[in-house]
Amino acid sequence: MAKKPKVIKCKKCDNSFEIGSDEDKETRNKEWTMVAPMPDKDGNVTITLMATWHCSNCGKTIRGSAGKTKGEFSGKSKKQQIDELIEMEEDFDLEEVADAVGVKIENLEKILKVHIKKGVKAKIEDGEFIFS
Ligand SMILES: [Zn+2]
Repeated sequence: MAKKPKVIKCKKCDNSFEIGSDEDKETRNKEWTMVAPMPDKDGNVTITLMATWHCSNCGKTIRGSAGKTKGEFSGKSKKQQIDELIEMEEDFDLEEVADAVGVKIENLEKILKVHIKKGVKAKIEDGEFIFS
């Protein structure tokens, strides 16, 4: 079954490209995975591949999910995954991360606010977690 490729869009200049395109391959930088520790009826969990791209038009870093697969649970809790994400110091989109690890966006926001209180130099703005 052919699935429509996901489109990645730069928030700054509206440049967009499809996952799997040459532009995707040429501009993709970092990749990491996030797992929602909530198995489906077959015992598989959803693994989201997160990635950053270097916008070929304006140079801004674009972040987003590059696709999803099914796999086995990595053993990392939601909390560990969020902790690791913060350690990477890469800005991220709250909705995308909430979806990837399987938490409600309000809960993710609460967790992140605790991190900020504890001294993480970042802010939540327009649904994004931005490091300063
Ligand atoms: Zn751009």
